Amino acid sequence: IMIKLGVIFGGRSGEHEISLMSAASVINALDKTKFKPFFFGITKEGRWKHFEGTAAEIESGQWEKTATEFNPGRLKELVDFVLPILHGPYGEDGTIQGMFEMLDIPYAGCGVLASAVAMDKAVAKDIFAKAGLPICKHALSYAEDFTLDKGKADEKRLKKEAEKIEAKVPYPMFVKPANMGSSVGITKAKDRDGLCKALIEAAKYDRRIVIEEGLDCRELETGVIGNHHPEAAAVGEILPSSEFYDYRAKYFDGGQSKVCVPADIPEKIKEEVRDIAVRAYMALDCAGFSRVDFFLEKKTGRVYINEINTIPGFTKFSMFSKLWEEAGVPYSQLIERIVDFGYERYHAKN
Ligand code: ATP
Ligand code: MG
Ligand code: MG
Ligand code: MG
Repeated sequence: IMIKLGVIFGGRSGEHEISLMSAASVINALDKTKFKPFFFGITKEGRWKHFEGTAAEIESGQWEKTATEFNPGRLKELVDFVLPILHGPYGEDGTIQGMFEMLDIPYAGCGVLASAVAMDKAVAKDIFAKAGLPICKHALSYAEDFTLDKGKADEKRLKKEAEKIEAKVPYPMFVKPANMGSSVGITKAKDRDGLCKALIEAAKYDRRIVIEEGLDCRELETGVIGNHHPEAAAVGEILPSSEFYDYRAKYFDGGQSKVCVPADIPEKIKEEVRDIAVRAYMALDCAGFSRVDFFLEKKTGRVYINEINTIPGFTKFSMFSKLWEEAGVPYSQLIERIVDFGYERYHAKN
């Protein structure tokens, strides 16, 4: 029987455009003998729309012109299963997953808890640490503690906050909004002045701000799929075109950033990465699929877990897809397995 599959794309976050690319790629790869796809777009303002055009129009953003208003409370009348391909807040953070739970509709990927926890870099680190997983030195700040109305810096309290951070974390530091993705709002700070500017920048996106020690490292990633017995894919390496893998290097550098799949590292390190990835996935109660990001410190050879992305970039050429392709699961089969895991989780709970 055909599964009526709702593909949800766009969204309110700074990663709206990335979601359009992933959704178009997934739609093109769907086996149309198994799935009858329905498209639902969320505008940057958060309005839901039903769209009946093509994947190309989704990718280009043209879809908004012909899409019609849609009440998401009616999702279950139209589809059997939903595949949210949204990144960042209001998509990857448990909010939309909560809506699916309320509507009692099976969906792909992590549930409310894992989505919310993985999206918050501060809480995720606490859980990783409790599970005995290696994380880097970090601190947590609140925008309210160093800003006045409208995000303007309160210089005196900002200096105090910087001193507090300096006592816990060495330079260089990475300053990040706790809930974001695609490197939006992230700055590398090399001194006091840089730290203060970075805190103000991150505060534009979130009131919770994570400050990490900047490691001199290589960057590794692996993909994990499954529910109670998850499996990790191959391990890949990111070779960013800039000083770090920032927003531009990720999407707009004309292909200068490279990914290397499989990573050119010793087998022992790959095993360590895969092992930590699965343990981290379980610690956060992830389900369906996720991409787990790591640092390999050059000087010491130590592996640190950075974060879990519960809805990673999902085009055919994204790291997540390449890692599974390398592990023997081609793209369209990967999508099918993710749908199967969504149903499995739904039936396990119901
Ligand atoms: P995404 O969800 O797209 O993977 P993100 O916005 O959640 O990204 P991170 O992955 O935490 O952000 O960081 C973005 C990039 O910044 C990393 O890929 C890496 O290049 C650099 N970076 C972040 N934290 C550190 C750190 N502690 N040490 C060294 N480099 C770092
Ligand atoms: Mg992330
Ligand atoms: Mg992300
Ligand atoms: Mg990352």
